[in-house]
Amino acid sequence: MNVPFLDLPAQQAEIADEVLPRWRQLFETAAFIGGPEVASFEDEYADYIGVGHCVGVGNGTDAIEIALRAAGIVPGDEVILPANTFIATAEAVSRVGAVPVLVDVDDEHLLIDPAAVDAAITRRTRAIVPVHLFGQTAPVEGLYPIAQRHDLVIIEDAAQSQGATSPFGRAGALGTIAATSFYPGKNLGAAGDGGAVLTDDGGLADFARSVSAHGSRTRYVHDRIGFNSRLDAIQAVELRAKLRRLDKWNDLRREAAHRYAELLADISGVRLPTVRAGNSDVWHLYVIRVEQRDRVLAELSADGIGAAIHYPTPVHLTAAYADLGYKTGAFPVAESAATHILSLPMFPHLAEDQQLRVADALRHAVNGDQQDRPAAVVHDRPNTMSHHSSQVPALSKVAVP
Ligand SMILES: *Cc1c(COP(=O)(O)O)cnc(C)c1O
Repeated sequence: MNVPFLDLPAQQAEIADEVLPRWRQLFETAAFIGGPEVASFEDEYADYIGVGHCVGVGNGTDAIEIALRAAGIVPGDEVILPANTFIATAEAVSRVGAVPVLVDVDDEHLLIDPAAVDAAITRRTRAIVPVHLFGQTAPVEGLYPIAQRHDLVIIEDAAQSQGATSPFGRAGALGTIAATSFYPGKNLGAAGDGGAVLTDDGGLADFARSVSAHGSRTRYVHDRIGFNSRLDAIQAVELRAKLRRLDKWNDLRREAAHRYAELLADISGVRLPTVRAGNSDVWHLYVIRVEQRDRVLAELSADGIGAAIHYPTPVHLTAAYADLGYKTGAFPVAESAATHILSLPMFPHLAEDQQLRVADALRHAVNGDQQDRPAAVVHDRPNTMSHHSSQVPALSKVAVP
């Protein structure tokens, strides 16, 4: 039995009856841009996150760029972000002409380290972008006093944490303004690209909407140079159906994470992910750390287990950011993590027998005794969730960026 990294077809099957008739309607009326579905989704998502305003945009990277611009970040400003993130966080900073200032992460949870942020502040620092990576909120409690002391804006990258909570509120409601992504593989994913800017501040929301619509709030009146980045009605229909299921799906991810913790506890040399005190994690990714990671990954792949690395190269060591001048050794925690991290299959419809199979394969890969393994072992498992045990959907072509 192969286990995919992600099973998006299972999500599509669950929402099909709700979504397909509305898509047909859109097809017939050709009302693709704007309209009531987009406006309703924006209201529903703002309510869900607990902020006053949601501005739907074309994708998560645009959302970060628009949030930075709305927050007043201009060329030459320095913006602090973690070295351990998807490159989009840094790209958005570069696209507004600001300078990404990278900092190391905390070895415990691989999220931005507030002490490192404090040490990186200069006279040009204007903002901190905490990334709520892997599904839990970054340590904002450590960032608030720093931001206050130096008069900095906190702009959240909440792309991997839809529904995650901290003692201060949900991811997306923890700073001045936030950005999220509805890339299909995210916890709340569209049927294509999508993203949103979230804020309590009506003025910032208005500015963000204008930037995303050619600098315009009234047709053909252009107050500033913006660009075109819109969430469309096709995506809004999909997102509304999935938003109704997000809490349930996040609960299923939590159950799967608990089950992994039990199944993997006795595999020596495997370091399990931890949840920060007070956080409720939505497990966008289940990231373990393991020695000889590349060999383990290769054996899992050969064994039909969809594992992946998020991310193989910290931002400062990518060719794209060579010009920033950071050297190997600049961020030891992020660099060490990049050589040990391994993301295991994680999605709401992940079945118990699939997880048993992952644990079994991981145990053999880590112990390096793959070849001794009796071929029949996995077939002896009880089929606890029969709808998945006999036929597993093909590995989804949509990877998590
Ligand atoms: C997915 C992701 C983004 C970018 O979102 P897109 O919609 O793919 O542009 C940004 N930051 C993080 C942490 C992400 O995971």
